[in-house]
Amino acid sequence: MERKSLIGLPFAELMRYFKAYDLTAMQARQTWEWMYRHGVRYFKDMTNLSLSVRKQLEQVYSCERLPVQYNKTSTDGTQKWLFRLENTENSADDTTFEAIETVFIPEETRATICLSSQVGCALQCRFCRTGTQGYTRNLTLYEIVAQVLSVKDAIDDWPKDPLTHRLKNIVFMGMGEPLLNYEALKKVLEIFMDPHGLAFSRHRITVSTSGITPMLERLARECRVPLALSLHASSEALRSDLMPINEHYPLKDLMQAVRMYPALSGTDKVTIEYALLKGINDSPADARALLSLLRGIPAKVNLLTLNPWEGAPFTPSSPQIYATFSRILTQGGIDCFRRRSRGQDILAACGQLRANKVYSTS
Ligand code: SAH
Ligand code: SF4
Repeated sequence: MERKSLIGLPFAELMRYFKAYDLTAMQARQTWEWMYRHGVRYFKDMTNLSLSVRKQLEQVYSCERLPVQYNKTSTDGTQKWLFRLENTENSADDTTFEAIETVFIPEETRATICLSSQVGCALQCRFCRTGTQGYTRNLTLYEIVAQVLSVKDAIDDWPKDPLTHRLKNIVFMGMGEPLLNYEALKKVLEIFMDPHGLAFSRHRITVSTSGITPMLERLARECRVPLALSLHASSEALRSDLMPINEHYPLKDLMQAVRMYPALSGTDKVTIEYALLKGINDSPADARALLSLLRGIPAKVNLLTLNPWEGAPFTPSSPQIYATFSRILTQGGIDCFRRRSRGQDILAACGQLRANKVYSTS
């Protein structure tokens, strides 16, 4: 019998599973803490459970991580993993499997993990490499939570005192559109924030979206996490050209939902992500259009450098253009900062992730 993974199971479900095997709520709680507070992956090491319980669990359940296909480290310390997905490891044809990428970005005081939410992405924003691989499927709860556990294992981040964890920030900025996998997103956020487990602060988890307008209200009310909006253009026409999703969810309604987000969710300003594309969206007039679009909206702007990839139809704007654009925003009263691009040399920066479905393992 294939063992069922306990990773990613909401606590209430874990309790139900345990009950079915005559295990107690207390034993479920202890197992949860071993998994998420201490990072233990083998039941034999869950030493406050009796030996017979540990054996029983071992037979039917597992806490195994995702298999790592490879791990690369950038000259700036950023790391990227290619994980093979479930049920593919033992497939008859060992060269074909689905995969996702996850990025770890170390910083002096705290570190960030960039998670994938889907295999590929259906939305095909023209500046994004992930879009070029198309969409395969949503990730499961297990596959999203296991990314965090695998990376914490790799950086040895299971200290006794959870306050001293290195990994403090989670951003959903990897492959896929998280709001198109909303039911899973909502449940994994609960697991990430559980004070008896991984205990991430709600304020340190950011969901980045290309603008799935109808989901914003639920995200605000139910998850209450900070929002980042990939905007990239201030007019309907240009945004539709760069991001076809704008045809479905036009800017006008999207910005109305964004306006409500901080108050509904109890979070700070929405982060507006705007990559400067040479000659496309980077003129002083574009900066003024952005200012007027954001008028009265609690927002700050993160000006991104376009991360290059082979075949990308755009080029990054020059530092001078960047300086002028950011000065106009700042003078207009909008907080504006620049996200330092990390991990470009291993294609780990924003919008550079891509995991082909077919890999040769040789
Ligand atoms: N699908 C979500 C989250 C994943 S993309 C979204 O679109 O928001 C994460 C971020 O990378 C988004 O802000 C996206 O606009 C940005 N991005 C995509 N391609 C990029 C590129 N080539 N250079 C810089 N940022 C890029
Ligand atoms: Fe998908 Fe986001 Fe890339 Fe657009 S930017 S294709 S929504 S991952």
